[in-house]
Amino acid sequence: MSKAPRSASANRDWGSDESGTSILHVDMDAFFAMCELARRPELRGLPVIVGGQGRGVVLAATYEARAFGVRSAMPMVSAMRLCPAAVIVPPDHRRYTEVSRAVMATMAEITPLIEQISIDEAFMDVSGARRRLGPPTVIGARLRAQVQAAHGVTCSVGIARNKFLAKLASTHAKPDGMLLVPDGASEAFLRTLPVGAIWGVGEKTESLLARWGITTVAQLADSDVATLQAAVGRVHGAHLHDLAWGRDPRPVVATARERSIGNETTFGVDQHDLVVVQARLLELCDQVAARCREQGVVTRTVSLKVRTNDFRTLSRSRTLEVPTDVARDLYRAARDLLAAVDLRGLPVRLVGVRAENLVERDGFAEQLTLDEATSSRPSARREAELALDAVRERFGRRAIGLGAGGTSVARQRPEDRGDNTRDSRHVNMT
Ligand SMILES: [Mg+2]
Repeated sequence: MSKAPRSASANRDWGSDESGTSILHVDMDAFFAMCELARRPELRGLPVIVGGQGRGVVLAATYEARAFGVRSAMPMVSAMRLCPAAVIVPPDHRRYTEVSRAVMATMAEITPLIEQISIDEAFMDVSGARRRLGPPTVIGARLRAQVQAAHGVTCSVGIARNKFLAKLASTHAKPDGMLLVPDGASEAFLRTLPVGAIWGVGEKTESLLARWGITTVAQLADSDVATLQAAVGRVHGAHLHDLAWGRDPRPVVATARERSIGNETTFGVDQHDLVVVQARLLELCDQVAARCREQGVVTRTVSLKVRTNDFRTLSRSRTLEVPTDVARDLYRAARDLLAAVDLRGLPVRLVGVRAENLVERDGFAEQLTLDEATSSRPSARREAELALDAVRERFGRRAIGLGAGGTSVARQRPEDRGDNTRDSRHVNMT
């Protein structure tokens, strides 16, 4: 959670001109705590602290707990003293990583230009998505709604002409808000802030500047560079002066690309029958697993996407005990995820499955699952699917498919059913 000083007067309407403001900073609100609330709704409205017992520190706290003065990195003992009524939840990093990946995948559908800077924060450059999706505030609002609907967590979005300003904007939009700082309002926005709000100004720099009577960004901007350089050093002084005027030339650089392999299909007619949805899911898993084998990778994380006919999109993912390239394993995970989704009784419009967190199969030391270890023919299923690959190689991709009861011949092509199946090779950010 951010501890940067804020200015209450900075969170206001700065205008609606969105030309030249294509940089978004997306920051999840009280992320670990919100992940816990998403699966334990009974905790909503309570002061909740995520952290270890005993000598641990606070990793996240709900806004109800922050009202008592609880902050991240504070010793748990101090936090408990400030807020004795707080509900303490031990961290589940695996869960937070899963939600983070899913959120980043949602962003990747908007633009590949995503620079993740922590588990719950990323910059996006949406200049290339404007024509397709609309102005940045429309993109930001839609992303916020999608993330909340799919994952039950909220994020705040700052929109500005560069990364420095966008991050300041999201800080001031928190919690659960969005703030646009138009290009022409950038300097006025900055002038409302204390120097400590600037990225890279810690307590030491703050006190050095204070000796020269500089405590606000406005004073920083109006100081001459030589004075600032005398106060905090040549390079740092010049840099701070640039920031005070909102000058930040750093582009958004897509980071840590991770391959994922996925496939999804929109039904020709919205489906009430879950058996039909499951059958389609099995076909999709079969196709995704075949592509994993083809590319020599195994997946650690299976993610399911379901869209109901009210256009609500739900994403769920599960990290597997043992990475796999076997359709049956993908399907088991995807089917369980589907069973746990609350469809609110609505018919399904789209279903998709994605293999994420891919690793090279060769570099992966094979481990047997309990299931395989106790069966008479370990890895028999994989061999069977490899045999299918060989048949498809000779007779075409759709010659043969997996059926719920084993192997079956596909009688209909998706085109004949009026469906729209989309193969996709997304590039996701980690
Ligand atoms: Mg955050």
